[in-house]
Amino acid sequence: MFDVAIIGAGVVGGMIARTLARYQLKIVILEKGHDVATGATAANSAIVHAGFDAKEGTLKAKLNVRGSEMMAEVCRELGVKYKNNGSLVIGFGEEDKAHLETLYRRGIANGVRNLELLNAEELHALEPNVSADATCALHAPTGAIVCPYELTFAAVGNAMDNGAELLLESEVTAIQPIEGGYKITAGGKPIEAKYIVNAAGVYSDAIANMVGDASFTVHPRRGEYILLDKEIGALVSHTIFRTPTKMGKGILVSPTVDGNLLTGPTSEDMEDKDDKSTTPEGLARVMKGAGESVTGIRFGASITSFCGLRAVGSTGDFIINNPRHGFVNVAGIESPGLSSAPAIAEYVLDLLRKDGLNTAEKANYNPIRPALHAFREMSMEEKNAVIAKDPAYGRVICRCETVTEGEILTAIRTEPKPHDLDGVKRRTRAQMGRCQGGFCSPYIVELLARELGIPYEKVTKSGGNSLVNLEKTKGAR
Ligand SMILES: Cc1cc2nc3c(=O)[nH]c(=O)nc-3n(C[C@H](O)[C@H](O)[C@H](O)COP(=O)(O)OP(=O)(O)OC[C@H]3O[C@@H](n4cnc5c(N)ncnc54)[C@H](O)[C@@H]3O)c2cc1C
Repeated sequence: MFDVAIIGAGVVGGMIARTLARYQLKIVILEKGHDVATGATAANSAIVHAGFDAKEGTLKAKLNVRGSEMMAEVCRELGVKYKNNGSLVIGFGEEDKAHLETLYRRGIANGVRNLELLNAEELHALEPNVSADATCALHAPTGAIVCPYELTFAAVGNAMDNGAELLLESEVTAIQPIEGGYKITAGGKPIEAKYIVNAAGVYSDAIANMVGDASFTVHPRRGEYILLDKEIGALVSHTIFRTPTKMGKGILVSPTVDGNLLTGPTSEDMEDKDDKSTTPEGLARVMKGAGESVTGIRFGASITSFCGLRAVGSTGDFIINNPRHGFVNVAGIESPGLSSAPAIAEYVLDLLRKDGLNTAEKANYNPIRPALHAFREMSMEEKNAVIAKDPAYGRVICRCETVTEGEILTAIRTEPKPHDLDGVKRRTRAQMGRCQGGFCSPYIVELLARELGIPYEKVTKSGGNSLVNLEKTKGAR
């Protein structure tokens, strides 16, 4: 029997697994997807919010500010890129100014450090490409950016290095209370655990229902994005928000930790929890909104568009509770869930302890996960040294992003291991450049087939039936 089963391998489940892996516990992460971080964690704005948005006294406000304070250290331990670029909420006119003053006061009440209100001149001195019509701004120097799935791979990988198990393609379909815990049906197989943590994103209400908890619902809210090429990645250095509305924080323009420019998201309530399609109307709204905030965005430099689904809970706050012995909900984790994830994990640990979980520390726990260093970021001496050690680092597979065969092989061999093209893409950035894998994907298919010991034709883009090759058209390769 496992001590703890965590349902969902997004950033929240991943950070909880890593936090619990410090203790002498048998942990299993149950994920229905073909990989880690395929839910909301795969498609969001990647901002570590400072913490001035959520209302004073809410769990969202408390965990956002604490998570934001923890994030730099967590990323350092996990070898994950983190950039403290600061954020600006820009306003146009008196009404927005009054709104920014409210956010400022709320931020102070929430414990956000170093907030300041700026006039037009101060704003444009910081960000010359922000619209000349902007008249005021709220500056949050503690705002930052991370890569959400890189953080999740590292958190799950670190949990696994410390003994946790990950079961992919293991959809939880039933939970039955048994003597001393629960019997979970996951991927059609029985798993027994003393405690369950429900971190199933938009489906966390369905999981709660399995133990008779119908106290909340979760609905999806779609957000569409356009990602732009690195050639305009430095148009702004801060994350640029508009004054928020009740539907969210508006269309933002932000650099990413990898040097691209991100624009979006839209905000649209949905019914279908799996519909991650983008729409012409949504992308048009992104272009309009981003163009109103920042001048000079050439959407001809867009390299991809994508959509994420926020898990909006019925209570208006994060729903983190312990409705029955041995069962913890971590639901309704919409934004700022990424920013809050390290603090959510601390909070869940506390709930589990109060519910009787024995947390004796492991003698050999290691919080450090070495960074998977990118070849393109190395000095010439470092490049020569890694190639001398392993000639696979001398073969560039993805020319857009300068990703080598050595890096791809390392990623395929490192927990949590990728099993498909998208898994390699999200771990190495190979296929993430301007050509979106047009040139390199055939080589990556070869590497995956060889490493996984499967036929070339069986390699998929993103699990399931997403085959990329049907059959060989020429002689053996
Ligand atoms: C458009 C958008 C923008 C956002 N921007 C930001 C931002 O800038 N900053 C910020 O802090 N937050 C942001 N967020 C919020 C943030 O992305 C989420 O709070 C966070 O990713 C939630 O992580 P999670 O692990 O709870 O959920 P998810 O990442 O959705 O993970 C849940 C996992 O559970 C799995 N699962 C579901 N059902 C089952 C089942 N029955 N059995 C097994 N597994 C199951 C899913 O496959 C999934 O992998 C944004 C979200 C969106 C959608």
